[in-house]
Amino acid sequence: MSGFPLTKKVVERFVAGESTEEARNAVERLRDAKLAVTVDHLGEETRDARDAEKTANAYVTLLESLRPLRLGDRGEVSVKLSAVGQRIDDAMALENARAICAAAASVGASVTLDMEDHTTVDSTLAILRKLREDHPSTGVAIQAYLFRSEEDCRDLSAEGSRVRLVKGAYREPASVAHQGKSAVDKAYVRCLRILMAGKGYPMVATHDDRMISITELLADRFGRSIGDHEFQMLYGIRTDLQESLAGAGHTVRVYVPYGDDWYGYFMRRLAERPANVAFFLRALGGK
Ligand SMILES: Cc1cc2nc3c(=O)[nH]c(=O)nc-3n(C[C@H](O)[C@H](O)[C@H](O)COP(=O)(O)OP(=O)(O)OC[C@H]3O[C@@H](n4cnc5c(N)ncnc54)[C@H](O)[C@@H]3O)c2cc1C
Repeated sequence: MSGFPLTKKVVERFVAGESTEEARNAVERLRDAKLAVTVDHLGEETRDARDAEKTANAYVTLLESLRPLRLGDRGEVSVKLSAVGQRIDDAMALENARAICAAAASVGASVTLDMEDHTTVDSTLAILRKLREDHPSTGVAIQAYLFRSEEDCRDLSAEGSRVRLVKGAYREPASVAHQGKSAVDKAYVRCLRILMAGKGYPMVATHDDRMISITELLADRFGRSIGDHEFQMLYGIRTDLQESLAGAGHTVRVYVPYGDDWYGYFMRRLAERPANVAFFLRALGGK
């Protein structure tokens, strides 16, 4: 599909490029616009040990290329454990993730583990606990739509813990997850309240104006200043909002995906919003 010039144009709306250099350039532009970043090397569901190691090496190369930008804690990478071996063996995913954490630490950056489908949550949280022994700033995404997530937020609301709260992007069965926007939004607010009332560092990842207003109310209620929580949004989505929150002094971290394995990520972005499918079809139609 990426062979079609028009498809490429649409993909570029959500993906920063295919090469390390394109990712670095996007990060530099965002840094200059006063935005923090978390960079994701696209790929998931790796079933080959060499590919898993290649992905870990790609992160190490990326982090080295970001060194001259001196991002400090405004630089971060996001890692999908399934891209570094989780589908093969937890120990392999842990070893590869450790290599990424070490490379991140050497440039003053941190790592957040993305959360994938519900079958991976226990394994991801177990690997997180092991990574945090040497790299305590390692964060994790928690998906509000899962029934279990309020409990996970409670467990992760201790001091030093970094939790990125998202609504959740995978199609999950009704046996494990809330269905429908209203139920998911309510679950998001319940999780948000736990994290904002806790002692950790909440990373509020949403483009939803209502969730952002509620975060500000909860920050007031629990005496959190602008520096002890942050907002996160995806590359290319609601850039106006990203800039206005950053202009008001908030830390806004943009999730920057890059690489050639963009299909899964791109399809989730289309599925989130019918208007994106319309945009995609219009572009294919040349309008
Ligand atoms: C930084 C970051 C990291 C993430 N990491 C994970 C993860 O690890 N695991 C996971 O399952 N999910 C992850 N997600 C995705 C998340 O779960 C949601 O699917 C996604 O953020 C859409 O939810 P929303 O909170 O923006 O609210 P929604 O109710 O979906 O949307 C609110 C408004 O935001 C805008 N919007 C939302 N999505 C889009 C879009 N695709 N295109 C254009 N406009 C849009 C629209 O204006 C919409 O009305 C992440 C999201 C962010 C921002």
